[in-house]
Amino acid sequence: MKPDTLIAHAGRHPEDHHGAVNPPVYRVSTVLHPTVADLEESGRLRFDKMTYGRYGTPTTFALEEAVAALEGGHRAIATSSGLAAIAGALCAFVKAGDHILVTDSAYFPTRRFCDTVLKGFGVETTYYDPLIGSGIASLMRPDTRVVLLESPGSLTFEVQDVPAIAAAAHAGGAVAIMDNTWGTPLFFKPFEKGIDVSLQAATKYIVGHSDAMLGIVTTTKEHFLRVKTSISTFGYSAGSEEVYLALRGLRTLAVRLRQHQETGILLANWLRTRAEVARVMHPALHDDPGHPLWFRDFDGACGLFGVCLKPCPKEAVDAFLNSLTLFGMGYSWGGFESLIVPTSDAIERTASPWAPPGPTLRIHAGLETPDDLIADLERGFAALRGVLSG
Ligand SMILES: *Cc1c(COP(=O)(O)O)cnc(C)c1O
Repeated sequence: MKPDTLIAHAGRHPEDHHGAVNPPVYRVSTVLHPTVADLEESGRLRFDKMTYGRYGTPTTFALEEAVAALEGGHRAIATSSGLAAIAGALCAFVKAGDHILVTDSAYFPTRRFCDTVLKGFGVETTYYDPLIGSGIASLMRPDTRVVLLESPGSLTFEVQDVPAIAAAAHAGGAVAIMDNTWGTPLFFKPFEKGIDVSLQAATKYIVGHSDAMLGIVTTTKEHFLRVKTSISTFGYSAGSEEVYLALRGLRTLAVRLRQHQETGILLANWLRTRAEVARVMHPALHDDPGHPLWFRDFDGACGLFGVCLKPCPKEAVDAFLNSLTLFGMGYSWGGFESLIVPTSDAIERTASPWAPPGPTLRIHAGLETPDDLIADLERGFAALRGVLSG
């Protein structure tokens, strides 16, 4: 099945729900078992059947089945947030005394988790240059258990050589875990590129409507039980309403993403012609440093990209942002609406230089009419110039 067909059909079992196209929300903690034998069996089958609310409902299993099929993995595991997916996946593979390698471009809360929780538990993190490629072999140690990738970085948009990094991780006896939120299950196929565990903030494009928090981890057959056990031992279970919303969002992912992609590229191309802009960070643009790898490994680009302005004072950037009426200012992305945030203060690097020539912004291209979005940005630039000349 081609991806659009799979999106419409994966994980659907209407015969289990009186013919309903979508499985309903099951509001459940307790699941009753008619006999002692049944009750005893439920412990063994807790990852496969409805046995207790925390282990998931038929709606959860439907979402997991659909995402695993789309990403090309063995099975998926829904979690309470994207960050819970990261924490649960990392903790499946490390214990005190172990070492992990994390890309310097990682989502900031991932860094914070490594630098606080994992550090406190005696797990050492080394950050590596996202562009290191096969050179990561020189950072592998006998105690390195995990190499964490995120490509492109969600603030700086460097594209990583995923197959080369995953191969080096395997050669050193480590697992390759990737944050695939930007690529989505549609535009990046992690298991064809050597990744063992792929995770995403389903909060973003899978939910797609800015109204629920959810994470999802997909693994190979080899690693499924380990990751599932870690996540369910932490109790990182996904809410019943949230998995319903994610499954509903997933069914339109392909059409939404095509529009996000088109508008994102259009805005990026428009922005790069502006005198106020030093650089646009969007791997689908031909002269972006990440373009060759993106072109080789991805099937598309989502609507998230970065902009670096020419040097200008904070007041001018603030005036630009404050004058926008269609671009909302707020965290997260992947919903139907356009967003923008300043990122200069949010980017932390310790292993590789990051020295943009001016203030940086992150834009999420939503589903509005592109002309209206451009008119909004024009208003912003007029306000920016007003501060510079005033
Ligand atoms: C948002 C985000 C996360 C975390 O997801 P939450 O659902 O907000 O916890 C992880 N990785 C990336 C790249 C993200 O953008």
